[in-house]
Amino acid sequence: MRRALAAPFLLVAVGCSPPAWTPPAPPAFDPTTLYAPHERDGRFFTPWAAFPVRFGDGLRWWLSRNPYDKSKTPEAPRVVANDGTSLAGREASASVTWVGHATLAVHDDDDVFLTDPHWGKRAFWPRRQVPPGIPIEAVPDDAFAVISHNHYDHLDEWTVEHLPPTMTWFVPLGYAEWFRDRGQENVVELDWWQSAQHGRWTVTCLPSQHWTRRVGMGHNEVLWCSWLIDSGERRYYFAGDTGYFHGFKEFGRRYGPIDVAMLPIGAYEPRWFMHYQHVDPADAWRAFQDLDARWMLPMHWGTFDLTDEPLDLPPRELREAVEAAGGDQERVRVLDIGERWHVPEPEVADRIP
Ligand code: ZN
Ligand code: ZN
Repeated sequence: MRRALAAPFLLVAVGCSPPAWTPPAPPAFDPTTLYAPHERDGRFFTPWAAFPVRFGDGLRWWLSRNPYDKSKTPEAPRVVANDGTSLAGREASASVTWVGHATLAVHDDDDVFLTDPHWGKRAFWPRRQVPPGIPIEAVPDDAFAVISHNHYDHLDEWTVEHLPPTMTWFVPLGYAEWFRDRGQENVVELDWWQSAQHGRWTVTCLPSQHWTRRVGMGHNEVLWCSWLIDSGERRYYFAGDTGYFHGFKEFGRRYGPIDVAMLPIGAYEPRWFMHYQHVDPADAWRAFQDLDARWMLPMHWGTFDLTDEPLDLPPRELREAVEAAGGDQERVRVLDIGERWHVPEPEVADRIP
């Protein structure tokens, strides 16, 4: 679509060819910047790296030629039938079900929590390519959810209005009123490094390297974040959207070992435009190692067609990246949509070579 619409702008496009780009050097490990002030005059920012994209870069991307052939029907993700009724019961240990994109339903003992719940038909404009893995009605009344930021593929108004109003929501700074206006009263707003207790759970808001913008919410006027969700027995990390940064190492140092790391692997091309805000599969594998995590659950792919790469490319690129890094493919669980994966107990996991 982009190229067809771009045709009248051909002459402009010539002047808008992608800039030469080489990957930036790995960021120095200076954890102090992760704890620095990150708000000024009502706007949030990342203290360790300014957003490098200049005015007009979005247009430049939109007008540039996509080097990938996206005419073929994607071979992944597969979809497996799941009516979601198991979420109402008790899980012997813990399981994670991929609903699609960045939405995962974690069922740990008696509790269920959701990450960036999205059951909607669109992420602003891009249409959902595969149906949600479980019905929204399967979410229990006492579930809780974490929200990473306000981009339309992570925060869906229809979903927030249709999930039980008895749920509890953990959100970064600036979102409480938005949720209350949509019938969700139980909202806990946290700044980076702040934690809240929820029953046996400690929910901690952590930095990420991203930004926010949404109609009615301005540009960087509300915060973005990642999450550590700790039951006391198991630790889950949910990255939301983020570029690769030194935060992962610090989270690993402070909270490792982490049992399950839910990391984005999609929406990363072209790199000159995306590298600051979205990891690519190789970055995600590095982040997984920095986090001192046992299992990697790749997400943020296969559901909404947001960027240049084909919908089914991220897991293949991840496999190659793990191979190139001499990593253990067994640590990566690429789920089907609707698949319910049981988290192995640590002693079982540790026996895997
Ligand atoms: Zn985003
Ligand atoms: Zn996203």
